[in-house]
Amino acid sequence: MEGSMFCYQCQEAFGNKGCTTSGRCGETSETANLQDRLIAELKAVALTLEGRTNVTREFSRFIVRAMSATLTDTNFNPDRIYSLIDEAKRALRTLDSDIQVDPSVLSCEDIEERSYRDLLMCGLKGVCSFAFHALALGYEDNAIYNFIIKVLSATAKPDTTHERLALLIVECGRIASIAMALLDEANTETYGSPAICHVSWKAGQNPGILMSGQDLKDLEELLIQTEHADIDVYTHGDMLPANTYPAFRRFPHLKGNYGGSWWTQAQDFASFNGPVIVNSNCITPVQDAYRGRIFTTGMVGCKGTPHITHRHIGMQKDFSEVIRLAKTLPSPTPLDTDSVVLTGGFGHHQVCSVISQIAHYIENGTIRRFIVIAGEDGRDERREYYTELAKALPPDTVILTAGGVKYRFLDLDLGKITGIPRIMDIGQINDAYSIIRIALELQNALGIRTLDKLPVSFVLSWYEQKTIAVFLSLLTLGFKNVRLGPTFPAFFSPGIVDVLTNDYGVKPITTAAADAADMMAGN
Ligand code: SF4
Repeated sequence: MEGSMFCYQCQEAFGNKGCTTSGRCGETSETANLQDRLIAELKAVALTLEGRTNVTREFSRFIVRAMSATLTDTNFNPDRIYSLIDEAKRALRTLDSDIQVDPSVLSCEDIEERSYRDLLMCGLKGVCSFAFHALALGYEDNAIYNFIIKVLSATAKPDTTHERLALLIVECGRIASIAMALLDEANTETYGSPAICHVSWKAGQNPGILMSGQDLKDLEELLIQTEHADIDVYTHGDMLPANTYPAFRRFPHLKGNYGGSWWTQAQDFASFNGPVIVNSNCITPVQDAYRGRIFTTGMVGCKGTPHITHRHIGMQKDFSEVIRLAKTLPSPTPLDTDSVVLTGGFGHHQVCSVISQIAHYIENGTIRRFIVIAGEDGRDERREYYTELAKALPPDTVILTAGGVKYRFLDLDLGKITGIPRIMDIGQINDAYSIIRIALELQNALGIRTLDKLPVSFVLSWYEQKTIAVFLSLLTLGFKNVRLGPTFPAFFSPGIVDVLTNDYGVKPITTAAADAADMMAGN
């Protein structure tokens, strides 16, 4: 449905300016405008909560959940957004509040001020997403909740100054690090530390269920419910690193990964033949080839697609309908990646256990530099850059990667340096905390005073809001010369670009060869 809307929160915004009639992602103007209304209601709740004491965590939990529904590629179902708006209105009634907030994204006419507000909101959505995944495993932090309320309140007020917004953006980076650390704690305490292992991409003979997204709790419950059912479970897209957790590897029917990056799902889901469950922000409009065997869960929604509802207290989500359907469908068709076996599981526990050896190799010149290529993947043809960059880097460099951008180079054979693979996959973008931990441990092992002097360069591949949160956290920690591509966000004003360039050394990507040479020179 076409109408009037405005959204520029992801890298695929039309013309790198904004989607104005419908989203390139598949969002209709109706759903986009409802999401703006939802955020306005959440701001009203936050304004009401600000300064109150003895407020229960229930409101913060709701805000985190509802904000997660507004991330790119998450919820295309207007009915689900309506019900979240109703929930927000109920919260306001419970709080005895009649506060209202203007939902228009463009209500602020000053382009610089709007840019500060939207960069802040984009980072906040990333923080909310990390907090939402941690919450699913029972991990929470009041510092994160208080910050979310503070930002929603500040961005609801028209008189919040530029300077205040700038300070909040810096704080957003700090809170993003805390949220990532919390999620890392949640994941590793619940499922064990990822271990270096091989992940198969081979299609098996049994009927299968494919899970795409980032929510590990869903995968755990699906694996339990499919045990001894002669059904294989596969991961897709961002779920790939789940194969490296000890708690999941004990299930022999977790067969491995099937297909590629989130945006190749139309082909991958079609040839999978069995049911597919999408559980966080990576859904594209459903195609006829797999309509009828795709399910959403969590905050994901798509009109006409069956939704597996949330888990009730003390119970698992009910995947029985998916399992019943799987038993009636054929096994997956092998893909041309069938013979690929990937090595993953390079989380901070694994890498930091050999950090003194790595530091030794850096000191004696065996390893010259670590290049972090992290972030999401997407459809933009310019993302070929990330493949070319991996190929262009000299043989004495090691690539640390996290997030979907890995699909751009994970199957390249770049060899090893004295037994250390030249590509280390640390996991999802949700696992970016591992990169920070590795950098901090390396700083300590090398006795380097500031992080920007480490032989580590960052090249981010941004697509949506979580990478922006990671980006802000890197800047706040003190990393310089971070490269961001394939384009700068549409919500970066000239003033923001000036600050990022002059104060933090942020750069746009150029060509793989030029950037590789520049990074090797320490720039
Ligand atoms: S999320 Fe991205 S593609 Fe979708 S409407 Fe917004 S800017 Fe456009």
